[in-house]
Amino acid sequence: TAFLSSMSHELRTPLHSISGFLELLFEDPESEDLNERQRRFLGNIASSTQHLIRVVNDVLDLSRISAGRLRLNLEQFDLHGVAEAVVTSLLPIARDQDVDLTLLQTAHPSLIADPERIRQILTNLVSNAIKYTPAGGRVTVMLGQAEERIFAEVEDTGIGICEEDLERIFGEFEQVHHPTFRPKLRGSGLGLAITRKLVEMQGGRIEVESAPGKGSRFRISFPVEPRTSPDAAPPEE
Ligand code: ADP
Repeated sequence: TAFLSSMSHELRTPLHSISGFLELLFEDPESEDLNERQRRFLGNIASSTQHLIRVVNDVLDLSRISAGRLRLNLEQFDLHGVAEAVVTSLLPIARDQDVDLTLLQTAHPSLIADPERIRQILTNLVSNAIKYTPAGGRVTVMLGQAEERIFAEVEDTGIGICEEDLERIFGEFEQVHHPTFRPKLRGSGLGLAITRKLVEMQGGRIEVESAPGKGSRFRISFPVEPRTSPDAAPPEE
């Protein structure tokens, strides 16, 4: 874990430099002279760089969590506010993929957890929902409180997951390859593993229901009274 953590840090610096120089190249007026083929090659370098940055960030996160070095800053907050911020930040990606993304204005449950980590969890779930929903589909986020638990659901009308893969998707580097659908953005296969650990560290649970070709519904829920897991590091002073 210490090795992974140092390696990820070492990789991040040059990767950000590659990404920064690519951006400069794209903005450079002289780049107009590039031909179609050169532009395509540059586009491929840029998307592979972004993919590598995502993988490195995910590896870093997972190694931090596994080493028990992730600090939780628990506080009481309005889950609706966090969900709204997540949905707003992902609207451009949803629009770009012609997916209708909505947060249902139903409830404003107040949760005691780490709002930054809840934002990360919801961002992972909503990004996945958008990623695995073909154009013309719908992603809906809903919040509520039932049976002493506060919950958030992310439902999509996407490609779905078959029964035998439902547990596997929470494993590290596990990706399900669909015969006809290729997501626009490649992931690391670590998103759901990180998400599940973050949920469980905060005393919550994550459940999924899905039907191939119809869509998926991921639900995270937390007891009204928080119980963080014993391996969560104490909150930062
Ligand atoms: P990835 O980086 O590949 O998205 P994740 O850990 O987030 O990795 O998800 C693991 C796998 O679970 C994905 O590769 C995908 O096959 C499946 N998956 C996750 N969310 C959804 C969803 N909303 N609809 C269909 N499949 C999904």
